[in-house]
Amino acid sequence: QPNGVTNGEAPAEPHKLFDTILVLDFGSQYTHLITRRLRELSIYSEMLPCTQKLADLDWKPKGIILSGGPYSVYAADAPHVDPEVFNLDVPILGICYGMQEIAWHFGKNVSAGEKREYGHAALKIQRHSGKEAHVDRLFAGLQDDEEVWMSHGDKLSNLPENYTIIATSDNAPFAGIAHEQKELYGIQFHPEVTHTKSGNVLIKNFAVDICKANQNWTMGAFVDQEIARIRALVGDKAQVIGAVSGGVDSTVAARLMHEAIGDRFHAVMVDNGVLRQDEAKQVKETLTQGLGVNLTVVDASERFLGLLKGVSDPEKKRKIIGNTFIDIFQEEAKKIAAAAENTALAGKVEWFLQGTLYPDVIESISFKGPSATIKTHHNVGGLPEKMDLKLIEPLRELFKDEVRKLGESLGIPHDLVWRHPFPGPGIAIRIIGEVTAEKVRVVQQADKIFIEEIRNAGLYKDISQAFAALMEGKAVGVVGDQRLHGYIIALRAVQTTDFMTADAYEFEQKFLRRVKNRIGNEVQGVARVLYEITSKPPATIEFE
Ligand code: GLN
Repeated sequence: QPNGVTNGEAPAEPHKLFDTILVLDFGSQYTHLITRRLRELSIYSEMLPCTQKLADLDWKPKGIILSGGPYSVYAADAPHVDPEVFNLDVPILGICYGMQEIAWHFGKNVSAGEKREYGHAALKIQRHSGKEAHVDRLFAGLQDDEEVWMSHGDKLSNLPENYTIIATSDNAPFAGIAHEQKELYGIQFHPEVTHTKSGNVLIKNFAVDICKANQNWTMGAFVDQEIARIRALVGDKAQVIGAVSGGVDSTVAARLMHEAIGDRFHAVMVDNGVLRQDEAKQVKETLTQGLGVNLTVVDASERFLGLLKGVSDPEKKRKIIGNTFIDIFQEEAKKIAAAAENTALAGKVEWFLQGTLYPDVIESISFKGPSATIKTHHNVGGLPEKMDLKLIEPLRELFKDEVRKLGESLGIPHDLVWRHPFPGPGIAIRIIGEVTAEKVRVVQQADKIFIEEIRNAGLYKDISQAFAALMEGKAVGVVGDQRLHGYIIALRAVQTTDFMTADAYEFEQKFLRRVKNRIGNEVQGVARVLYEITSKPPATIEFE
């Protein structure tokens, strides 16, 4: 369907337009990685909870992967997949719990193992010949001995009927199984984690060779269908409003909306006074001149700083900033709506743009346990409900690296696309204690120098997030023979792949000394510069 609309009905989601591998989640901490690995192979994949009823799906996957999970399939309250998946006549790959689920379904062949197996394991692949040779496709291109990653306590006690062994390990005689005729496979190890050396090859074998999924999921293909979907959804009159922050997600979402509906998309940027130095000005330049987005910048820095006066509790700071943002955004939205209605060029503001990404969706639908109710993803501050607007989330199928690729293909400047994350409450939570205009100035200037030096040294992309923060209290220093009772700046730079854990970046002394010199010379009122080396955990990346 070239225009992303099937038969003039509801706009089609990617799972209707791209071959899709469905990942059913049994609660493993690695499930999202299966989906990511497939996406990296340009294969579209979506995750749904293992409780998904097939009858409720209005699309058919090319193949299904059953994930791992913390439960034991033989336990009374263990989660089980809708048995209909086995009648769907598409290939199925069970990973760990997923394999145990297959073995349980076909004859209750699972029991508790003598010992847990956690970590690296040596896999021995068993090749087949004759009419069974097709089962070898899962391991095509792999060595006979492979290093894999295991994490299980249960094991297959027997081979289900009509199955054959395709791999073994010292501790797992059924490390891999395959049905002799049907496309059903099970593996005890985790191909989705990087510790399994050839995991990607295996996943590709399953998706491309066995499921015959097309590798056509590219951001170039996505952008066209997404623009068509937005147009179909919004129609040719209604208008959309959304907040932008200067970060990659909101910028990409805004650019996409502009591409789809032009000036009927209204972006609003609220300058809360605790942004990076010159940020509001730069965002305005990039979005309006560079990307053509219809943008209103509201300078509310004094209002925010006024409300933050005397407040040093981090939670209170966050609340004030969050609530004030909502108030201001609503005020602005009313103005835009009123102006829009007067022009008669277009219809009412009916939609609210939100830059939700797929990890947020995964987080809200992942399987949390047999008794847990699935919580729905809640919107930031409940703005759309409050304003009686419908929600539009053009990035909700995308991972962060896909958003970045999309951003580049939409012509968004490289530096912005690869920008480090910046928290919503901004510098307010990088100033320990009370926020004042003076402290904001000190942090902004120190931060600018730090980032500039990181860029000059070519380290920006190596580092996941870097910033300057202001410690509470003051320290003594001497500047030009004068005693100075000055501010204490802490520099923080971390490396991380997922922001769940992080390590402090190891700079060379020379580099840190250069940054210290520049901050000491150029930022008035600073007496000390510290480099913060705590990892996460125990620390968080931000200070408050
Ligand atoms: N809970 C199951 C076991 O211990 C499955 C583990 C998993 O899927 N990682 O064997």
